[in-house]
Amino acid sequence: MTSPGAYDRWAAESIKRLEDEAAEVGPTPLRVLPLPAGSGAALYLKDESAHPTGSLKHRLARALFAEAMARGRIREGTTVVGATGGPMAVAEAYFARLLGLPYIAVMPGEPSPERAVPVERLGGECRFVSPPLAIYDAARELAAETSGHFMDHFSSAAAVADRRAGDLAAELFGQLPGYGMDVPRWVVAGAGTGATSGAVGRHVREHGLPTRLAVADPENSAYFPGWASGAGDYATGMPSRIEGVGRPRMEPAFVPALIDMVVPVPDAASVAAARHVRAVTGLPVGGSTGTTLWASLELIARMRRDGIEGAVVTLIADAGPRHLRTYHDDTWAEKKGLDPAPYTATLERFLSGDPWEPPPR
Ligand SMILES: *Cc1c(COP(=O)(O)O)cnc(C)c1O
Repeated sequence: MTSPGAYDRWAAESIKRLEDEAAEVGPTPLRVLPLPAGSGAALYLKDESAHPTGSLKHRLARALFAEAMARGRIREGTTVVGATGGPMAVAEAYFARLLGLPYIAVMPGEPSPERAVPVERLGGECRFVSPPLAIYDAARELAAETSGHFMDHFSSAAAVADRRAGDLAAELFGQLPGYGMDVPRWVVAGAGTGATSGAVGRHVREHGLPTRLAVADPENSAYFPGWASGAGDYATGMPSRIEGVGRPRMEPAFVPALIDMVVPVPDAASVAAARHVRAVTGLPVGGSTGTTLWASLELIARMRRDGIEGAVVTLIADAGPRHLRTYHDDTWAEKKGLDPAPYTATLERFLSGDPWEPPPR
């Protein structure tokens, strides 16, 4: 262990190692999602699943490690503790291993090898805690016991949105000209921590771009009602069925003022749209990719109605074989009370050139 103080060669070298990793990974690709001829719009998917850990949390985790080392919160040998059972745990385990740090993920609910194994393969340890909301206190206690660092990604996402999570926006807008696109009409993101939409929104404002920013929001989430009502602290207290997006309360990195529109998306529509992305790209994407695709198509339908041409960019937030047993599986959907069929029909009609006519809510 190094002694406290500003000088920390290990931290400086480690931050450099993260920068090297980012350079090695390089920009994630843009994929085209075909639309009917003459629709006047183009739809691109920025494929964040191309990251080594398969999701957009790779960027956030990298940024949080860098920030915590720069602030002296993580030093050589510090145990890093996360409170998450999803893609964030895998990304954190990956960077902990890269930097030679012990890592423990406190995961919500009953023990699940499916969630634990990817973290353990990266040298991390998993602890399961019930009830699910107890993970934050459990992680904080564990960090205190180990003199470690609790990587509280919901509250620290705001601090890094300007910093390296902004890589996403600079990278995206930088690569568009290579695809024959000046700036998109809309960028559509999901919101979990709010880091992704926050990074895009800041970039658009800083550079004075004409691009508008939409957030696609699943059922039970606090973001749509909070944004629409102008209440900064709205809470539903309800969990989302779509992993990665939709929160029971508004998180600090979600900045309503940066967002032009929040589009509520039925969960069954997210499932139908995720299946469509898989059919087109072959990638077993997660449900949140469906949420943003559905909202993107809704915006494209509005553009068509209003005679506006242009491109829409959204993200493939994650992909992995485990999603084949959930969003892409009929038995799972039925158990969750989700019937994607009417939404699939809407997609098929729209993508064959008919008007956008979603089923009534
Ligand atoms: C975290 C996450 C999101 C939302 O991104 P934020 O930057 O946290 O708002 C979307 N999809 C998946 C799969 C995620 O893990």
